[in-house]
Formats: sequence, C-alpha cells, structure tokens
Amino acid sequence: MQEWRKGKRVAIVGAGPGGVSAALELIAQGFDVRIFEKTPEPRPLGGAVLLSTPVLAIMRKHGVDIETLGSRTRTLFCNHKGKIRADLPWNASVEAALGIPGWHYGMLRSNAFGRMMERLPKGVIFGAKQATGYSEARDDITVHFADGTSETADLLIGADGINSPIAQQAFGDPGTFHIGLRVTLAWCEDFGGIDRTVGKICHSRDVQASYFPMLHDGKPGWEWWVVERSTGEDEVIPDLKAHLKAHVATFADPIPRFADHTDFETQAFRWEIRNKPLMTTWCKGRVACVGDAVHPVSPYAAYGMGMAIEDGYFLARALSGQDLSQLSQIRSACKTYEAERVAYVNHHVGFARTLGDRFHKAPAPLAWLRDMVFDHTPLLQRLLSKDYLQDSETMSLHLKELHVT
Ligand SMILES: Cc1cc2nc3c(=O)[nH]c(=O)nc-3n(C[C@H](O)[C@H](O)[C@H](O)COP(=O)(O)OP(=O)(O)OC[C@H]3O[C@@H](n4cnc5c(N)ncnc54)[C@H](O)[C@@H]3O)c2cc1C
Repeated sequence: MQEWRKGKRVAIVGAGPGGVSAALELIAQGFDVRIFEKTPEPRPLGGAVLLSTPVLAIMRKHGVDIETLGSRTRTLFCNHKGKIRADLPWNASVEAALGIPGWHYGMLRSNAFGRMMERLPKGVIFGAKQATGYSEARDDITVHFADGTSETADLLIGADGINSPIAQQAFGDPGTFHIGLRVTLAWCEDFGGIDRTVGKICHSRDVQASYFPMLHDGKPGWEWWVVERSTGEDEVIPDLKAHLKAHVATFADPIPRFADHTDFETQAFRWEIRNKPLMTTWCKGRVACVGDAVHPVSPYAAYGMGMAIEDGYFLARALSGQDLSQLSQIRSACKTYEAERVAYVNHHVGFARTLGDRFHKAPAPLAWLRDMVFDHTPLLQRLLSKDYLQDSETMSLHLKELHVT
C-alpha cells in the first residue's frame, strides 16, 4: 500500500491509457496515487494502434523503452486504386528536438499499454472497483464504489472512458450517439513482400481500408482496418471475414490479401463507433477528467489513445508542486490544463469527425467531386498538414522537458 498523505492524495477512476499516464507522471512528481478500475485486471482494447511522436516522447518520460515498441512508418493517403493523394510530412526540428524519427508508429495496443503498466509501482491499482459517483466536501472529495466502499482524496481524476460516470456527475449526461460508422480493426503476422516503410490510408467512394507495419511483441506484423457505414450495434454480420473481403475486393494490392492471413477469432475486432458532443469544460471543483471521458475520438485521426496519454501527462504537469488540499491551487492547475488541452483536442476531434463525414457520408455527386479534387489537387495534403500536423508540431516544440537536445 502506497502512502496517502493529505494534500497529495489523487484518486483516479479508470486504468486505461489516460489514467495510467496521469498516474505515472503524478507519482514522478511525488503525489500519492490510487487507481480504481472496474475490471479485476486492467486490459487494453484489442488490436493494434498507431501512436505519434509526441506520445512516444511522453511514454519515454514515463520510463517506457520506446526503442523496440513500434514500427516506424511514413503515412500516405491514397485512393482505392493506390493513387497517392497525400504524403504526411514531418517536421525536422521536431524530430531533432524529441530525438524520435518519423511521425506514426504501429504497435500492438497490449504492448504499449503493458509497458506503461510495468512502470507503475505495486499497490497503485485497485481492481474490481466500479465507481458509481462521488461526493465533494470543502476540503476533500469521496469516490463511491458499487461494492459499498468509498475512498476520500484531495483530487479525483475521471479517466473512465466514454461512459464515464464521473464526467456525467460533474457535467451532466451529454448523451452518446452512434455516428453511423463501424471500424473493424485487425492485425496479422508479417507474410513478406510488402514495403514496410509506408502505411497507407485508402478510400473508395465510401469505404476506408488501411494498413500499417507494426510490431507485436518485437516481431513484425501488419495492422489493417476497414471503416464502413453502419446502421448500429444491432446489425448482424454472420461472416465478418467474407463481409470485409467483399468490401476491399476493389482495393489495390496488398489490401485484399490481409484477411487471409488474419485469425478472425483472436486478431479482428469490430467496433461500432459512438461519440458525444464536444465539451468545453473538463474540470469542476475537485474533479478533473482526461481521455475518452471528455472527448471520445472517432478512430479517424488514429489519435484517441495518444490524446488520452497526452491529457494525463498535461494534467499531471499542471498540478506539479500544488498543495491539493487547497481548492484554489487545484482550480489554477485545472485552468492551465484546460487552456493547454481543450481547444487543441476539440479541434482534432472535430477534424476527425469532419473527415469521417466527408469520406463516408457524402451523397453520390458530392463524393464524385470530392474524389476528383483529392485525386487531382493538393487539397487533402494541405488539410492534413494544417489541421492535423501543424499544432502537434507546435505542441511538441513547446514541451521542452521532453526534448533530448
Ligand atoms: C476501433 C478503435 C480504434 C482505435 N484506434 C486508435 C489508434 O490507432 N490510435 C489511438 O491513439 N487511439 C485509437 N483509438 C482510441 C483509443 O482506444 C481510446 O481513445 C483510448 O483507449 C481512450 O483512453 P482512456 O484512458 O480515456 O479510456 P479507456 O481506454 O476507455 O479506459 C477507461 C478505463 O476505465 C474503466 N472504467 C470505466 N468505467 C469505470 C467505472 N465506473 N469505475 C472504474 N473503472 C471504470 C474501464 O474499464 C477502462 O479500463 C481507437 C479506438 C477504437 C474504438
């Protein structure tokens, strides 16, 4: 059991990437941290993930060995026949400052999450603790659990995902909604003959099929996924493999080949994508939230896990040196955290949603026009550079403590 000293007590609800990232940085700064997780053993969502350079720099600060974690890739956007529409550039000064080449790295989620979990001291995580809500007093805050127990702390962090009861109590229920899209996320062993230096995000008229090189337990593999329209959770797909093969049949090689190398029992995960309205406040009193609890990201920007890890880090950084028994000090740290994160994250979330709508929901004549413009002008390249990369670069350069030079 770790220490639990007044003025330093932080209770975190949810042992996902956001909660664990916050915990690691808070512990590094001398706070007493307890994480309460509803499942008996914290487990990452299945499948693979793409993480970007600033996220890797934060994980390195957490003590994670990032050298052998993922497979570096250049990201290309293509049409379904393989014509390149955009080649994501990356900023040489950011590479030099962070000492990490490239931009996207593909890896198994369980590897990324597992390596962060290994850095947590023993006794920090309490499993099978489902939070149901909290009660806040002037000097402290008490989180309540479904088993009838409770814990009193100075600060409560809601890192409990898209259906967060902590965020709902603090800010009201904004209502989650199905966005009309589903993604099937899959991975497989490397089967040779494919260029491992690039990953491609490819679009037909209304389907996205993409693939990236990744590492799983240090071994080469491929992550691949398909985004398509969906009518909701109830839609029955009797044979997922046949369904996906039909969807990607017209895509350029190697996309149609991945399904035959994938074990659909253990390596494919179907997700119906839910979301909720953008929130402009993530903190209230002695409560602060991170990750999907306040901004679920449609997987379009390949950034939700990364954002959650960043949030946890930024929140802990803002709390550095504060006496948490003083509400005024929590408020001031939260103000810094919100100023650094809310507009930035909401911009990315909004951009991911817009991209999803543009690529999957445009009516036929507009979709035709979109494809003509993306195929024959640099518009997509400009949009991605301006709306996706530019402020990430600024943020990376601003985080001087993560720089290697
Ligand atoms: C198909 C798909 C593909 C994705 N691809 C990518 C990608 O390539 N790159 C990327 O960066 N992101 C990706 N994401 C997004 C990413 O997985 C999420 O944004 C990220 O997991 C959010 O982290 P989090 O810590 O906020 O929440 P979560 O990961 O949801 O963790 C919340 C934790 O809280 C626990 N919990 C929930 N309720 C309670 C309670 N009441 N009491 C106690 N514990 C509770 C849960 O069990 C869980 O452990 C993808 C998501 C999906 C669905």
